[in-house]
Amino acid sequence: PNPDKIDLGVGVYKDAQGRTTILDTVKKAERLWGVEEETKSYVSTVGNKEFSQYLIGLILGDDHPAIAADRVALCQAAGGSGALRLAGELINATGANVKVWAPTPTWANHFPLIESAGVEMDSYPYFNKDTSTIEFDAMIECLKAKAKAGDVVLLHGCCHNPTGADLSDEQWDDLAAFLSSQGLVPFVDLAYFGLGRGLEEDVYGLRKVVAHCPETLIAASCSKNFALYRERTGLLAVVTNSAAVKEVTQSQLGAIQRKIISMPPDHGAAIVARILGDEELRGEWIAEVDMMRGRILELRAALSKELGVQGNEDMARIVNSQTGMFSTLPISKEQAERLRAEHSIYMTNSGRVNIAGCNFNNIPRLATCILDVI
Ligand code: PMP
Repeated sequence: PNPDKIDLGVGVYKDAQGRTTILDTVKKAERLWGVEEETKSYVSTVGNKEFSQYLIGLILGDDHPAIAADRVALCQAAGGSGALRLAGELINATGANVKVWAPTPTWANHFPLIESAGVEMDSYPYFNKDTSTIEFDAMIECLKAKAKAGDVVLLHGCCHNPTGADLSDEQWDDLAAFLSSQGLVPFVDLAYFGLGRGLEEDVYGLRKVVAHCPETLIAASCSKNFALYRERTGLLAVVTNSAAVKEVTQSQLGAIQRKIISMPPDHGAAIVARILGDEELRGEWIAEVDMMRGRILELRAALSKELGVQGNEDMARIVNSQTGMFSTLPISKEQAERLRAEHSIYMTNSGRVNIAGCNFNNIPRLATCILDVI
């Protein structure tokens, strides 16, 4: 109930008033679609095909050779989470005895979503909380020593959750060559694209691994960049190495979705398709994504500056080096608990903060309180 509380917990974008509003383009598309929609009859098990095609065009580029060669199986999913689960089920359905490797740390729901499809998972090092840096060499060494050809490597395409620490373009280049040399299959979770460096920049790594590796799994979410959270709008795309394998994969995806939820909800997908299929709305949506990303960047810069001004240059540098909605601050569980109990500042016990949860007015107090508990 504290009116001065600062909620940096849940990963949703918030405006200056702390509200998670509906995008103008979504409102417009909903009005148009309200008139144009002709039926509420079932969609197919693989969902809204227009949506899937527009979204994969946005992600890979409309003229991508894998799309032109009909090598990409597409299945609309119930959010990014649904896509991750479908991918787990698909891996399980291959009958291959493979593992899915995930970074440490990773989004808390990765293990439950994929393991409950009956797939074994393991971890590779990614981020060292003591030094607040990415352990790229340790990541490669671990995968080289322990992962076997055919194993799947889960990667955050951009805006790593929970750390905000993303691979550089050069590291993606090296990683893509490494994965292909080892016969490892990239599985890219793309939950925040557009909110890191930009819509094109945020898929640099993904496009790189697709260029190097014969097969790639992509779990994309429209929850954040279209702010469609509760509409559960996502896509699983599987880039395969031939149109024949794509056909088999496509029918598997339909069969898998059928046994879990029959078919995905249409509304969010119909709205995304309406926006991406209309040049004017698409342009306005890109401007809205730019606005959200710009505001997150400004908040991050302001928090970093304030931490520096108040005397902690190290933490200022860490916050500034991270990307997207999240940062993991170098604070302990006890310190996070003190922030909650003494200052009504809410974050996960791991020190993960949603940068969009603060505002320009409360950043000075936020910095003061963080420095107070450490
Ligand atoms: N992947 C990551 C890394 C996430 O942070 C999230 C959302 N918190 C998702 C996937 C799934 O998002 P949704 O199911 O809401 O689309």
